[in-house]
Amino acid sequence: MYDMDTRKRALALVTQGRSLNSVSKETGISRAAIRSWLVRIEPLMNTGLPCPRCRDAPGPPEEPAAYAYLLGLYLSDGCISPNRKGVYILRIACADAWPGLIDACEAAILSARPDNSVCRVQAQGHVSVGCSSKHWPCLFPQHGPGKKHERTIALEPWQQEIVGAHPWGVHPGPHPLRRLSHHQLDHPSRGR
Ligand SMILES: [Zn+2]
Repeated sequence: MYDMDTRKRALALVTQGRSLNSVSKETGISRAAIRSWLVRIEPLMNTGLPCPRCRDAPGPPEEPAAYAYLLGLYLSDGCISPNRKGVYILRIACADAWPGLIDACEAAILSARPDNSVCRVQAQGHVSVGCSSKHWPCLFPQHGPGKKHERTIALEPWQQEIVGAHPWGVHPGPHPLRRLSHHQLDHPSRGR
C-alpha cells in the first residue's frame, strides 16, 4: 500500500495540470491507483476487516459491474495461489495484443480491494497483473486445487445474479469468458 506522502506527491503533480499518464510514468504508480486517489486519498485501513463475502451477513461486492469483469478475467486467464499467512495472490495474464486490458484489469482489481497494491510483471506476450489479499477465495470461490480448465467451474448463486445483471462487463473489447467451453462453466445445480 502506498503511504500518504507518496499519494499526496502524485496528486500534487496531477493538480499542477500534468496528465495521469506522465505522472504514472514518473512515479511508477499506476494510473488506476492515482485516479482512485482523486476520488478518495485516504486508505481505508481495512486490511484486517472482512470483505463483503465474509461479513456476518454476506453481500455482493461493492462494484458489481467491475466484479463481473474481474470474474471473467479470473476464470479465463487468472489464477489464485496461496502465499504466506493466509494471504493469496491473484494473478491475471493480460495479453499484450489487447490494448487497454492491463489498465482495465488493474482498475477491476482495485474496485474489489481498493487499498491493496497491484503489481505488473512483463512476461512473454503478456503482462501478469497481480494483487495479494486474504479475500480472493471469498470473492472467487472457484479457487480450488488443480487446474481450473481441468475441472468444472460452477458459479455461486450470488455470482450468477451479478453476471446476469452485468453481463461480463466494463471493458468494450471481446470478453475473455467467451473462450470458455460450456462444460467448463457449468450450472451450480449440477454440483461442484
Ligand atoms: Zn473475505
